[in-house]
Amino acid sequence: MRIDILTIFPEMLRGVFADSILKRAQDKEILRVYFHDIRAYSQNKHRKVDDRPFGGGPGMVMTCQPVVDAVRAVQAQAEAGRLIFMCPGGKKFSQTAAAELARASRLILVCGRYEGFDERIFTLLQPEIISIGDYVLSGGELAAAVLADAVTRLLPKVLGDEHSAAEDSFSLRNERGEPLLDYPHYAPPALYAGLAAPEILRGGNHAEINRWRREQAEQRTRERRPDLFRV
Ligand code: SAM
Repeated sequence: MRIDILTIFPEMLRGVFADSILKRAQDKEILRVYFHDIRAYSQNKHRKVDDRPFGGGPGMVMTCQPVVDAVRAVQAQAEAGRLIFMCPGGKKFSQTAAAELARASRLILVCGRYEGFDERIFTLLQPEIISIGDYVLSGGELAAAVLADAVTRLLPKVLGDEHSAAEDSFSLRNERGEPLLDYPHYAPPALYAGLAAPEILRGGNHAEINRWRREQAEQRTRERRPDLFRV
């Protein structure tokens, strides 16, 4: 997969992709990441990318020319790919959305700042619009990093244990096909601060361990996220 990220703060993102799973995916040549500075596409002599909103009001708006030109130039570098603008007003991101995006061969992620984008950018470019949750960040960089991370760990051969993504929260399903939260995990020592790891996990009976984990996942989901169940 190729991921292009368009931002006015490319330096903010480099560190995120330089460690752990995102780095490993690039080392294994499963992922290629390119950062593009939207400012470099501005025709303004001061490299301005924002202006005051028509109609007044607080804040600045990301203007059409630098964003449209940047997107078009980056799109032309390779196959068209899926163009995604990060916006709090977009469609809510989820594990299901991550799995669906993981099937693409190229993602182009555009990060906003200030009050967001001039609306005509959406009319012209017809992107997908994605939010990572119902809260407002200062910019789209962290949102793009969240999306890229969630998608990358689902790409084949990125995770060491091929089954671990399928066992994660939201990928794990019950027999009714409803998503479950992950079950509780324990590691040595068996006793810590007077708290024992469950006996069943130390017994080596894998059928019983699986049954226990399923029950725990169901119970935890019912307690913490009943909204994930249909009834
Ligand atoms: N005025 C906008 C609103 O109320 O919807 C908020 C703009 S926000 C301060 C600046 C930029 O941060 C947005 O253009 C977007 O790229 C990014 N952003 C903020 N929250 C986000 C979220 N929940 N999901 C995705 N992107 C987000």
